[in-house]
Amino acid sequence: MSRPRSGAGAAGAVDPLTPTVRPDAVDPSYGVGPDLDAGVRGDPLAAWSARKDSYRLVSPANRRRLTVIVVGTGLAGSGAAATLGRLGYRVECFTLHDAARRAHSVAAQGGINAARARKVDGDTLRRFITDTIKGGDFRAREADVVRLAAESGRVIDHMQAIGAPFAREYGGQLATRSFGGVQVSRTYYTRGETGQQLEVACAAALQEQVAAGSVRLHTRTEMLDLIVADGRAQGIVTRDLLSGRIRAWTGHAVVLATGGYGSVYHYSTLAMASNATATWRAHLAGAAFASPSYVQFHPTALPVSSHWQSKTTLMSESLRNDGRIWVPARPGDERAPGDIPETERDYYLERRYPAFGNLTPRDVASRNARERIEAGHGVGPLRNSVYLDFRDSLERLGRPTIAARYGNLFSMYRDATGEDPYEVPMRIAPGAHFTMGGLWVDFNQMTTIPGLFVGGEASNNYHGANRLGANSLLSACVDGWFTLPLAVPDYLAPLVGSSCLEESGPEAGLAVERARARVDRLLAVGGTRRPVWFHRRLGEILYAGVGVSRTEEGLRRALEQVRALRAEFWADVRVVGGEHRLNQELERAGRVADFLELAELMVLDALDRRESAGAHFREEFSAGGEARRDDVAWRTVSAWHTLDDGTRIRRSVPLGFSLVALQERDYR
Ligand SMILES: Cc1cc2nc3c(=O)[nH]c(=O)nc-3n(C[C@H](O)[C@H](O)[C@H](O)COP(=O)(O)OP(=O)(O)OC[C@H]3O[C@@H](n4cnc5c(N)ncnc54)[C@H](O)[C@@H]3O)c2cc1C
Repeated sequence: MSRPRSGAGAAGAVDPLTPTVRPDAVDPSYGVGPDLDAGVRGDPLAAWSARKDSYRLVSPANRRRLTVIVVGTGLAGSGAAATLGRLGYRVECFTLHDAARRAHSVAAQGGINAARARKVDGDTLRRFITDTIKGGDFRAREADVVRLAAESGRVIDHMQAIGAPFAREYGGQLATRSFGGVQVSRTYYTRGETGQQLEVACAAALQEQVAAGSVRLHTRTEMLDLIVADGRAQGIVTRDLLSGRIRAWTGHAVVLATGGYGSVYHYSTLAMASNATATWRAHLAGAAFASPSYVQFHPTALPVSSHWQSKTTLMSESLRNDGRIWVPARPGDERAPGDIPETERDYYLERRYPAFGNLTPRDVASRNARERIEAGHGVGPLRNSVYLDFRDSLERLGRPTIAARYGNLFSMYRDATGEDPYEVPMRIAPGAHFTMGGLWVDFNQMTTIPGLFVGGEASNNYHGANRLGANSLLSACVDGWFTLPLAVPDYLAPLVGSSCLEESGPEAGLAVERARARVDRLLAVGGTRRPVWFHRRLGEILYAGVGVSRTEEGLRRALEQVRALRAEFWADVRVVGGEHRLNQELERAGRVADFLELAELMVLDALDRRESAGAHFREEFSAGGEARRDDVAWRTVSAWHTLDDGTRIRRSVPLGFSLVALQERDYR
């Protein structure tokens, strides 16, 4: 077995609380490699402030001679690009969208968390850390969670300062509400369009730097590959989506902020253009990919109601503040919801988890919904959903209050389904939503390729095996505005005086040729099926095999099916249209081809991890419907390398917990 291609992250000192067992491989297609080290030393509570104090700086006059490539203009990418530009670095910023502000962050509805000392309900920094570690089922890195908590107050202040119009209470204080997995109210929001307002503010800050000349923005430009030279990330290859031109860009460092890969499931809450191409190509160039099987299924997505539906839509988790989830107590009950009396309703979350009720974390809520649906209690024409009912809160609070809190979400539901949620309960079902996995990063947000940084949902470090609602907008902002602008200059400091790699040099040329050959190959297959056919089929395989709940048998089947589907794709895909113009079929084909490779790693990771933790629920490792972790063997993050010959290596990154005692996650 050859060693991972990238040298960073050598086996190093690990936390004394580390697990000692390294489980063997369960499939011949991978082996087990040396541990990785995230580079956190000492007290996790002090690690971030110590790191900030010791980061190297670059003097203002030298900054304009250093180029940073930033891919993505969501909250993470626009924050990083705007700040690095403002600091004086030369920034080349890329997005596949036609404008920076169309990044997928605009879709976020519910809110953004901050431990901003609302002492009245008992919230504290420590409580934020505990909730997040526990919410992630002890599979997140403690020191990173501390950073998330510590910077959260600054994020809210900063977002306000750059124009985010947070909801306010009568007295002028910023308003908050609750999200799943917590018992305090720490979520700041802008009605049901928090992501949109934050993204508008961030994109405006980015545009200010574009106008100032420090950032060059390249829209409708898709990253297709990473350029690695001398063991460092030194550029990217892009395709101009309008002209089809493929070319290289080089810089002193590269930041990827390209979002999550939930759309691998085809039916997901993500935008149609969301993809994994940038992170997957970086992985193939040597960056370890962590925990690919950690996928969050959101319990309040709209159910799939037709084979021809192109995606599913999210109803914000904030609705669980006032909506009650229930199913008919009798399986197969076909009466209209209003005809089912109170005594014949099963408010199963309130019944099973009285302490948290409808605000259990997402993995728990999704698993319970799926269990009720499979037990025959599902509602709606396809019997694949559960009710989210506002009857009681409408009676208690009145329609104006509910409309003020959730008005746009109610309109969205009515537009999507033709039903009025003020009159009948919403119907909801678990849908693929957020990916906790992503490119593995150390405490500086740097991957195993020196010079390649990752921020936002594209990285893996904050959320463990299950993300708490409203913590992702926060992590994207913390990375973009507060971590990358310090960590990237620390990396750049010794590079002062060095020039960028030649765009026409051999390393860049090789990467351009690789990208071009792949496009040619896609166009040359000339088969019979459109890319979307393969995407839909892949989604079916993944929902069945690597969905809300998993078994060894189902995973082994999924592994074979994904491999067979990938072979079929390369034999039978049909990409209509040409290369040198806007061609969304070609774009999609490339993204589906990457999803087919990533999907295999997702299944492998799920098969490999012989425990249940958070959203990774293996039926063999459960008791009474609850996940059972194995902290001896699996208190680690799995970080994967794919070698040139296609074989894979799993490396472990041990996790230690000194701030929050290891405990069973109990929301009862
Ligand atoms: C419907 C929905 C609701 C949500 N609600 C909430 C919420 O209330 N609270 C919360 O905390 N989180 C929420 N989330 C999650 C949260 O919105 C995302 O995790 C977060 O916004 C991701 O931000 P990002 O900056 O990492 O990436 P994104 O906003 O996804 O941006 C990715 C960027 O990368 C670019 N890009 C991608 N690939 C390429 C490529 N190959 N080449 C060039 N450019 C590329 C895109 O153009 C885009 O600019 C929600 C998610 C969804 C789907």
